[in-house]
Parts: sequence; structure tokens; C-alpha cells
Amino acid sequence: MSDKLRYDGKVVVVTGAGGGLGKAYALFFGARGASVVVNDLGGSLQGGDGNARVADGVVKEIEALGGKAVANYDSVENGDKIVETAIKAFGTVHIVINNAGILRDKSLKNMSDQDWNLIQQVHVFGSYKVTKAAWPYFRKQKFGRVINTASAAGLYGNFGQTNYSAAKLGLVGFTETLAKEGAKYNITANVIVPLAASRMTETILPPDVLAMLAPEYIVPVVGYLVHESVTESNGIYETAAGVVTKVRWERSNGAEFKADETFTPSALLARIDEVQNFDENCDHPTGSKDLMSVVERNADLKPSQ
Ligand code: NAD
Repeated sequence: MSDKLRYDGKVVVVTGAGGGLGKAYALFFGARGASVVVNDLGGSLQGGDGNARVADGVVKEIEALGGKAVANYDSVENGDKIVETAIKAFGTVHIVINNAGILRDKSLKNMSDQDWNLIQQVHVFGSYKVTKAAWPYFRKQKFGRVINTASAAGLYGNFGQTNYSAAKLGLVGFTETLAKEGAKYNITANVIVPLAASRMTETILPPDVLAMLAPEYIVPVVGYLVHESVTESNGIYETAAGVVTKVRWERSNGAEFKADETFTPSALLARIDEVQNFDENCDHPTGSKDLMSVVERNADLKPSQ
């Protein structure tokens, strides 16, 4: 048996595939039997005009290696047009890699509404539009794979990136719900949190660090998660330079108070250490039912009482 996972017969849409991570994904899938839609509008890092045909170069590279690919130049905000390209060229879509992205870094003090809105528009609305257009095909064929691209700035915050952080954590919530809505149709959705050398990072990381962060080292994580044999869903994978980790929510065991007038800020102050204690018996919640179990744990609130 080959030790290579392959994607023969699969149609993959990769957004923002003209450079950086997206290009690495597109070349990988093109070389492993998939038909690839190489989407990119060729904009600048901040979302302005750029080279409108970067996608063509990637298509040519895939074809030169014997693979199948078509270019699409629409913004992800018009995700239906990107999926239309897949349908026209290859008849369906199986895998969506929501990767396109831009930055408008500003401290909150200097943030304009335009900087804020454009970031939400490209990252959140764009991922929604592409996924939404692919969803009916996924459901009908009872197969679909979605990768959404978050960022450490979204999970943990980063100076100068309130707009980007909000968008990137928004994509985590988006993915968690997609995973639930897709489960019975064999549609999985996962988040990757990459760190890689690209024009996004080349001015903020030193050359010796960048040298370890080839985009190709993110490819195996994406390739694994979208393979037909892998049914994992609702995961958050933080990965860089060949290190692959999984991130999950953790909730402290907490403290229970009587739900009456004795539950005051000072009552909380007296037991705040318990609330903030992550040492033992922590939950790792994955759904809203898990919150109800916390509520019901407090005997005074149990429905039977
Ligand atoms: P990149 O700038 O090299 O690639 C992004 C690509 O998206 C570009 O080719 C750009 O033209 C394209 N694009 C931008 N807006 C678009 C739009 N509206 N429609 C279609 N295409 C559009 O950057 P990258 O580092 O490869 O980033 C890829 C993704 O990974 C982004 O979502 C980014 O936020 C995320 N990310 C990257 C890193 C990192 O370390 N490089 C870290 C965390 C998250």
C-alpha cells in the first residue's frame, strides 16, 4: 500500500491560493490526484490592488506536473462565483480550504471602521460565502471537508490586531457550528492555526526563524484533516515548523453558590480561587449541553426542585 494519502476524484477549492500557504496547499492537492480551483484576486497584503493573475501561475505549475487546475479571480466575498468555477470545470466540490486573508494592523486607538469592516468581510464573510455555496453539494453527495484558517492572534490576542483577532476567533465559532450541522452528512470542519513564512510574517519575524517556517510544513495537517478516511471534526490544530498540536476549551471546576440574594460580588470574591482553579477536575466542553450540566449541578437550580 502506498504511504501517500491521495485525493483522486476530489475537487478542492483553495482560496487565496496565489501565494503563501494557499499556493502550497494547491500544489499539494494538484500533485495528489485532485482537481483544484486556484482562487486568488492577487491583492496586496492590506487588500488593495495587486497582480490580478497570480492564480494563473499556480495553475500552470500544477499543470506542468500533470495535475488538473483552474484559476478563479473573484474575491472570497463572492464565494458563490468561486464554487461556480468548480462546478463548471469539475462538476462538484468536495473540499473547501478557506485560506484567503489580509491584514489591516492598527492599535484600537487608530482603528478605522473601514479597517475593522474589511477584515471581517474578507476573513469571516468570505469563509461563510464560499462554504455556504459549497454546502448543498456537500449535503447531496454526503461528503464534504472544510478547513478554516484562524490565527494565534484570534486565540490569544496580539497587539495591533483587534480586527483580525475578532475575525479569526469568529472563524473558530463558525467551524464549531459547521461541524455540528455537517455531522450527519459526513461533512467535517476543522480549524488550523498556522505559523509560516509568507509575506504576512516576513517583516515581523527574523530570517533565522522564517527559515524554519516553510508553508509546506502546514500542508500535512490540512492534507490529513480533509482526507476521505479522516472523520475528525470540530478540531483546532495549532501548527508550525513540523510541530502539530491540538487546542481545546478548558473550564474550571468552579464554585457553586446558592442562587438567591446571598450570591453577591463579595461572596464571589471570597471564593474566587475556586472559580479560577484549573488544577483538577476540569471539563473540556464541546457543546451547549455541557453548560446546562454545570447549571444543573447546582442543586438549588435543578428543574425537579
Ligand atoms: P499571503 O498574503 O501570502 O496569502 C494570502 C492570499 O490571499 C494572497 O495571495 C492574497 O492575494 C489572497 N487574498 C486576499 N484577499 C483575498 C480575497 N478577498 N479573495 C481571494 N483571495 C484573497 O498570506 P499567508 O500567510 O499565506 O496567509 C494565509 C492564511 O493564513 C490567511 O488567512 C492568514 O490570515 C492565515 N495565517 C497565516 C499565518 C502565517 O504565519 N503566515 C499565521 C496565522 C494565520
